Amino acid sequence: MSGSQSSLLLQHHLKQLKLPTVLREYESLAEVCAKERAAYPEYLLRLVERELLDRERKAAERRLRDARFPVVKTVDSFDFSAQPSVNEQMYRELLQGEYMDKRENVLFVGNSGTGKTHLATALGFAACAQGRRVRFYGVTGLVTELLESRENRRLERLMGQLCRNHLLILDELGYVPFSKAGAELLFDVVSRAYERQSLVVTTNLPFENWVEVMGTERLTGALLDRLTHRVHILEANGESYRLRQAQKRLRNKKSE
Ligand code: ADP
Ligand code: MG
Repeated sequence: MSGSQSSLLLQHHLKQLKLPTVLREYESLAEVCAKERAAYPEYLLRLVERELLDRERKAAERRLRDARFPVVKTVDSFDFSAQPSVNEQMYRELLQGEYMDKRENVLFVGNSGTGKTHLATALGFAACAQGRRVRFYGVTGLVTELLESRENRRLERLMGQLCRNHLLILDELGYVPFSKAGAELLFDVVSRAYERQSLVVTTNLPFENWVEVMGTERLTGALLDRLTHRVHILEANGESYRLRQAQKRLRNKKSE
């Protein structure tokens, strides 16, 4: 077989085997290894390692895309000294992700602008980096999607998609009250997640007010029961970070 024939065949086989990085790099790496007089197994090892690394990087990018964070935030950009009410030690422990192995939930409670969504997103980001499947939802958006999918007879499919995640983030419970059907569907999600996957919920509402969004005492009780059976609660109280930044800017302007 001629050299060009065998390289054509090799390229074909590598495509079939779905080894794009090997395909892209086998020639240039062969030159490098020839120069270095590296043995064949060493060449093969380096080539395969590149394929693996590329695969892991792509999978991580895909997980991050699939999580649909509205804005990607990480713990590095969170200033804990600006929000002393947040238990930093507890939060950093949660970043390790063990709570997901135990199917425990995390609840961020506090007023607006205190960094709840930021911290919830950063937890999700860390989970993605650990190879877990994560999905972020604004609670209102999720409930709308649930109601629509029920109308289109796609509810089971959506529920199935939700269940496939290791972690579901439900952001901003409490800003808009749900319809009766909406509250029941949300309860369904929480109920199916119970002891199967972890939930991270952010809310501005203390527990006693949850009935205002869920509608009935019975449903609220049942939801809280499941959500808080195994839960880590982080309180983020104090002033709004946004408001403070805006005030700072205003003060700086005045003193100019
Ligand atoms: P909440 O969800 O509690 O209303 P957000 O997480 O949306 O608050 O925070 C509002 C904005 O302020 C976001 O852009 C967030 O990144 C930023 N922010 C809030 N707290 C902090 C903090 N302590 N350090 C850095 N950025 C913060
Ligand atoms: Mg928020």
